[in-house]
Amino acid sequence: MDYVKTIALVAHDNRKQDLLEWVRWNYKTLIQHKLVCTGTTGKLVQETITGLMEEGDRQTYPIIRLKSGPLGGDQQLGAMIAEEKVDILIFLWDPMEPQPHDVDVKALLRIAVLYNIPIANNRSTADFIISSELFKQQYQPIKRDYSSYLNRTVPGE
Ligand code: PGA
Repeated sequence: MDYVKTIALVAHDNRKQDLLEWVRWNYKTLIQHKLVCTGTTGKLVQETITGLMEEGDRQTYPIIRLKSGPLGGDQQLGAMIAEEKVDILIFLWDPMEPQPHDVDVKALLRIAVLYNIPIANNRSTADFIISSELFKQQYQPIKRDYSSYLNRTVPGE
């Protein structure tokens, strides 16, 4: 990953205020990178960052906004990770309530682990990631070699 990173921000409804507070705290760092969000999270992050900009150069802050999570946004994000278009995932999911798209949440976390990108599921991990020395550098996550899996023999072959 480059100096300029693509950072995905997603929060379930009960965690959105938590994420927005984190965004307010870190927006000067975040605006140096590219942000991609699920729909509702993206709308709130965009409003928050736009509101924090100096009045003189205030303009709607550009964010890639996907569909809302339960409407396919988590899957779109998973596809972006599989295409190696996302460097870091900050995903504040709600540990206290089941979600209609729990299977999508699980799939998103799985693909993020598979591609070995940094993932934060709570504020303190998000703090550690954004304040890490590695965050300021070019960093190449180690990719596992799946060639033996890809070349496996399937039953009946
Ligand atoms: P939302 O989706 O940002 O559209 O609320 C979040 C999620 O549940 O994945």
